[in-house]
Amino acid sequence: MKDLNNIVNKQRAKFREKFKQAVSDVQNQAEKIKPQSISADIFTEFPPDSNGRKWQNEFLEILENKISKEIYLQFQEILKERKDYKCLGCATCCNLACSEYSPQELQKRAENGDNFSKQFLSIFIPYKDKEEARKVYPEYIALLEANKEDEVYFYHCPKLTKDKRCSDYANRPQICRDFPDNPLCILPSSCGFCDWREKTEDTTLYLHAMIEVVEYYKEKIPVKL
Ligand code: SF4
Ligand code: SF4
Repeated sequence: MKDLNNIVNKQRAKFREKFKQAVSDVQNQAEKIKPQSISADIFTEFPPDSNGRKWQNEFLEILENKISKEIYLQFQEILKERKDYKCLGCATCCNLACSEYSPQELQKRAENGDNFSKQFLSIFIPYKDKEEARKVYPEYIALLEANKEDEVYFYHCPKLTKDKRCSDYANRPQICRDFPDNPLCILPSSCGFCDWREKTEDTTLYLHAMIEVVEYYKEKIPVKL
């Protein structure tokens, strides 16, 4: 529990730093193209056809077509790096999958076309109760209890054999092949992707912060593309 708590607390502290950096980087980009005649900030209501309005439009273009694309490309690079690491077969992720959605909610989402929910339901079944899940990974459950306000549902895959092998390996769905698909996932120390997480965590946190800041600017600038 102490180790997992440390990981989460360090991640939160780092995110705060990255968020400040992202705010400053986005602000600087806006300032760089600001007409000298303007002293107001980018969130001001400018009259149509004014320099201020042109500035806002130009900056929205940059957010949409430059910054957002760069963020996307950098995420792709991080995912490519994942290929240098391997699953070590500890089976924790097969034995304990968490979701903010109940089985009924997942079913509804799957019926509405959500591919992740469809795949998830094709393999995972719910644990009878939280105590069953706790036996698999007590530190993780304790961490969730300490940090999560919303309800979490616990699942496991019945295709996992007693000797921790996948009994349908060739047909396992994409979500199994892609796990972990984000270096910010909380991974057990037995996971072969922990080094990937460590190596890419800083960049990933920065990119997540950038997404939040870009969304904020897009929402608050009082014109739309
Ligand atoms: S299908 Fe196989 S790899 Fe996927 S969760 Fe089940 S046991 Fe694990
Ligand atoms: S937790 Fe990591 S090492 Fe363990 S089975 Fe899942 S991907 Fe493989």
